[in-house]
Amino acid sequence: MRVIILGSGSSGNALYIEAGDTSALVDAGLSAKETARRLSEVGVDATRINAVVVTHEHADHIKGVRVFSKTAKAPVFISQETRGECRWQGGEQGIRWGETISSSAPFQVGSLDFHPFSIPHDGIDTFAYTVEAAGIKIGIVTDLGYITQLVAERLRGCNLIIIESNHDKEMLKIGPYPWALKQRIASNTGHLSNDETARWLREDFDGKAEYIVLAHLSKQCNHPEVARLSALEALDKRGSLFYQQAERRVKVAAQDHASEWFEF
Ligand SMILES: [Zn+2]
Ligand SMILES: [Zn+2]
Repeated sequence: MRVIILGSGSSGNALYIEAGDTSALVDAGLSAKETARRLSEVGVDATRINAVVVTHEHADHIKGVRVFSKTAKAPVFISQETRGECRWQGGEQGIRWGETISSSAPFQVGSLDFHPFSIPHDGIDTFAYTVEAAGIKIGIVTDLGYITQLVAERLRGCNLIIIESNHDKEMLKIGPYPWALKQRIASNTGHLSNDETARWLREDFDGKAEYIVLAHLSKQCNHPEVARLSALEALDKRGSLFYQQAERRVKVAAQDHASEWFEF
């Protein structure tokens, strides 16, 4: 299996995952054109992608879905409620539909097994996923206000974890956003702070993952090094072999360019 994050943050999220002959995008929140450009930059033929799997209806996750689905002929896997809330430019015209998915039912795209689960966020029906193929499991968890018991459980045994580390609480407090937006971000259905992600690393992370990728960082209210240090400090308190290698194993996903490949 191999995975690459094409972009991550409030200006657009997309992740590419491949196992054997099968490949899928999780979200297409960059424009379709930019998604195709970044895919070709990393050597992936967009027209061979088998599915676009959607987490929720916010624009930074669906902006490119309609045009990408149309041009790459990739079916869209989405829940009924999320589909109903999507404000696609151009309506649903040209979209290819895949399965209607739900948080209670795993589904397959070729050799990729998707296990969706609900997370606390202000989308109508927001999902996170673990994806499995050939004994490898990865977790994709962004856009949530806090880490529930269910999230902690689902992230056990993952070989790769992509997890939100959206904002630094102090930077959010003094940052440039209007008060209502600050409230939204900090709420239980908003976005994960560096502190909350650090708490999970200290208390619940099982140490199995080869890599932890911090994702969906706020441009205004976070900094890659601030988020990374917060995670490293949390891991430092744990002491086993993983934690000695944390420097190498904690990565940060960027908004403006694709990550490295993660291969298993
Ligand atoms: Zn988002
Ligand atoms: Zn969202």
